[in-house]
Amino acid sequence: MSAPSSDYDPVQVSALQPEEVARARDAALAAVAAATTLEELKAVRLAHAGDRSPLALANREIGALPPAAKADAGQRVGAARGAVRAALEQRHAELEAERDARVLVEETVDVTLPWDRRSRGARHPLTTIVERIADVFVSLGYEVAEGPEVEAEWFNFDALNIPPDHPARTMQDTFFVESADSGVVLRTHTSPVQARTMLAKRTPPIYVIAPGRTYRTDELDATHTPVFSQVEGLVVDEGITMAHLKGTLDHFGAAMFGEGIVTRLRPSYFPFTEPSAEVDLECFVCRGASVGDPDRPCRTCSSEGWIEWGGCGMVNPRVLVACGIDPHRYTGFAFGMGLERTLMFRHGVEDMRDMVEGDVRFTLPFGMEI
Ligand SMILES: [Zn+2]
Repeated sequence: MSAPSSDYDPVQVSALQPEEVARARDAALAAVAAATTLEELKAVRLAHAGDRSPLALANREIGALPPAAKADAGQRVGAARGAVRAALEQRHAELEAERDARVLVEETVDVTLPWDRRSRGARHPLTTIVERIADVFVSLGYEVAEGPEVEAEWFNFDALNIPPDHPARTMQDTFFVESADSGVVLRTHTSPVQARTMLAKRTPPIYVIAPGRTYRTDELDATHTPVFSQVEGLVVDEGITMAHLKGTLDHFGAAMFGEGIVTRLRPSYFPFTEPSAEVDLECFVCRGASVGDPDRPCRTCSSEGWIEWGGCGMVNPRVLVACGIDPHRYTGFAFGMGLERTLMFRHGVEDMRDMVEGDVRFTLPFGMEI
């Protein structure tokens, strides 16, 4: 480009001719009007108002004009650029408003619509309490044993010294599979796992617990259910005494209900243990303080200081013999607790039906426990 000179004719700079400036402006305005999205408008801005757009290039030519021509060309180009800038701003505002309106429509949430009510479940508290109990005993060196829920009558009764004329065998208590003489029952307790363990295993020492589901012909109500859970403990070894049983139960009670909680034994009768005892648990709420104190009643133990927890005893030598273990060399103890009952007073569950109805509103509060 030549140096500015007084005889320089701006008309000869084609980019600065009025028609060219008008055409560049009109092309820019048309492109702005045609942009339908903010992205398109961005491209238009680059093409028609950017550093390399026709009007910007024309604007640069102005510097080379003679002073007399500068004002005229500058006004022309400036007006054109101003018009384009204004159109860009206006279109930008329009497109932004359109986008905002569209987003409002597209992302609208109708809070009145019915929602998917499949809420997340939680592990059943019976499952978690079984695992907690298993942890307690596994840490003592016990194994967890399992047995079938559809059980041979022999394991459920005969092996456990429950003779054929025992009332527990009648149809009132026991679910028989098919006919009453089929010899197959739904196990009425977890004790058949004792017999199975002793027979399968083996020679003592035996240290097992057997949690599991059991069945009796009870109607479902607040305190009964035809399907319930027990945990069974069995120890057979040389020199096992009732003191070992008591110490184990005290440890179990403290592990489940709090440090220092002990058990007491009351004489009882079970065919498969001799001697036998009921296991009571020291009330973990009042620890006996409510006894004889009418000002401090305890709902958990009915102010008796103790809660019935389960049954226990020394394994009846007849059971050892039935399972092929020498009762002159080995002795053992066994105990059994209802898990629903344990859960009821450990967590203040008042209705047993809550545990079998599968309502997540019952299980969810236990879901945080691991
Ligand atoms: Zn109490």
